Amino acid sequence: MTLGKEIDGKAFAAKVQDKVAEGVAAFTASQGRKPGLAVVLVGEDPASAVYVRSKHKMTLKLGMESFEFKRPANISQEELMELVEELNGDPRVDGILVQLPLPKHLDEQAVVELINPDKDVDGLTPISTGRLALGLPGLVPCTPLGSLMLLQDELGDLSGKNAVVVGRSILVGKPMAQLLLNANCTVTIAHSRTQDLAGVIHQADIVVAAIGRPEMIKGAWIKPGATVIDVGINRVPAEEEGKTRIVGDVDTASAISHVAAITPVPGGVGPMTIAVLMRNTLFAAHLRAGLPAPL
Ligand code: NDP
Repeated sequence: MTLGKEIDGKAFAAKVQDKVAEGVAAFTASQGRKPGLAVVLVGEDPASAVYVRSKHKMTLKLGMESFEFKRPANISQEELMELVEELNGDPRVDGILVQLPLPKHLDEQAVVELINPDKDVDGLTPISTGRLALGLPGLVPCTPLGSLMLLQDELGDLSGKNAVVVGRSILVGKPMAQLLLNANCTVTIAHSRTQDLAGVIHQADIVVAAIGRPEMIKGAWIKPGATVIDVGINRVPAEEEGKTRIVGDVDTASAISHVAAITPVPGGVGPMTIAVLMRNTLFAAHLRAGLPAPL
C-alpha cells in the first residue's frame, strides 16, 4: 500500500513569510514608511485573543507596523463604526482586520461593509467579493488563497482539473470555488443539501474540505491519486481524559492511502492563513502607493 504525501503547510508558509519580509524591506526603503496592519478585537473571546496576538507578533516579525485596538464587549455599533472610519482615513494603516465573530448585539455585516476595500486584508467586503467573482485583481480571503497557493505549489497548473469544494461559506467555500474557477478548474460546490456527497467527491482530482465536521470525509470517497486540502479545524476529545486534540474534516487515517497528497491538521492550511494575511497587507500597501503587486 502506497501512502500519499503530507503537504507541509508550515514550511511553505515560512517561505511566503520570507518573501513578504523581503517585500516589506523594499517597500519601507522606497516609501520611507512601513506597511501597517490594524487589528480590531472586540470582547474577551479567548480563541480570538490568541489569533490576534499571533497576528500582532507576525506583523512585527516581518518588519511591518502593527496597530491593535482592543475594545470591550459592550462597545456600541456607532463607536465601532467610528473606529473603522478612523482607520479607513489613517494613512499609516494599509490593512484593517476586524476579528470575527463580533458579539451578538453588533451588526457584523455593517462593520465589514464599512471597511475601505483597498484596506480589506480579509477580503470580505462586497467590493472584494465582487472583484474576485469578476476575476479582477483585489484582496482575497486568506484561507482560500493560502489553500490555492498550496495546490499550485503541489500540482503546478490546475487547468482542466475537476475540483470539488465542500462548504459554501463566505469566508472559505465560495471564495475557494472562485479561485479554482479563475485557475481554470471545473468546479463543483457541495454543501449540506448535496445528494450523494461521496459520489460527488469521488469525481474530483482536487478536494477542498471546509465543513467543520470532524473527519467526515472518508478515504473510500476519494478518487485514488487526488490531492486533498483539509481546511477544517475541529476540537475533539483526546484519548487522555479531559484533554482535546485538533482534527480536520477529512479522516486522514483512511484517506492517506488514497490520495497523492493531503494537508495535515494541524500544520497544513492553518499556517498559510496568517502568512497570506501578511502577504495581503503588503499587497494593500503597494496598491495604496500606486505600485505594482509585489507577490
Ligand atoms: P461554516 O460553518 O460557515 O460553513 C460550513 C459549510 O459546510 C457550509 O457551507 C455547510 O453547508 C457545509 N456543511 C455542513 N455540514 C455538511 C455536510 N454534512 N455535508 C456537506 N456539507 C456540509 O464554516 P467555515 O467555512 O467558516 O469553516 C469551515 C471549517 O474550516 C471549520 O472547521 C473552520 O474551523 C475551518 N477554518 C479553518 C481556517 C484555517 O485557517 N485553517 C480558517 C477558517 C475556517 P450549508 O451551507 O448547506 O449549511
